[in-house]
Amino acid sequence: MGTDRRLFLAAALDDDTRHALASFVSAPGMPWIPGRRVPPPGWHITLRFLGRSSTLQHELLLAALEEELTQARFDVGFGGLGAFPYPKKATVVWLAVDSGGNELEELAVACERAAVRAGYEPEERPFHPHLSLARVRPHQDLSALVEQYPEFPGRLRVDSVVLYESITSNSGARYTELDRVALR
Ligand code: ATP
Ligand code: MG
Repeated sequence: MGTDRRLFLAAALDDDTRHALASFVSAPGMPWIPGRRVPPPGWHITLRFLGRSSTLQHELLLAALEEELTQARFDVGFGGLGAFPYPKKATVVWLAVDSGGNELEELAVACERAAVRAGYEPEERPFHPHLSLARVRPHQDLSALVEQYPEFPGRLRVDSVVLYESITSNSGARYTELDRVALR
């Protein structure tokens, strides 16, 4: 349908965490991350990719999220870098989640339940909590970068799930917040 939007659910970064991470990755002496950077306003931790969605699916999803998101708010701590599919053939460079991974997984499961209730096909792929920082094409061997990169000492308070629209283009995707459902 012409009005369909490309949607996904994510934990958003608050401004303090975003600014702290932006300063951290660009601090003097920090190893350079190659590829096309995700601009800081777009930083997020994906919980459930939904893909093209109608207005009806969007509304059903919000109603289902209100029912399924019963979890208490929690904190996430970060590690260093990782890469998909793996560091020797990196195409996506991401910041690792250190603590709070189980709570993020629990939240992803609740998002999954809401998505299925709203009529989306079940997600078969396992959940890997991560914060994408750059896309690398063609792939590069970034094992040295991943091994040496220091841990980001910031913490993120996860207090809501954000529904984003993704507008993709040749120069990278742009994400717009459409809705936000609070945790307890
Ligand atoms: P581009 O695809 O142009 O490189 P992008 O991947 O950032 O940009 P989207 O493809 O719209 O933009 O994805 C939005 C978010 O959902 C990103 O965090 C992306 O990593 C994640 N995502 C996309 N497809 C999937 C998928 N099939 N399963 C899990 N997460 C996905
Ligand atoms: Mg993509």
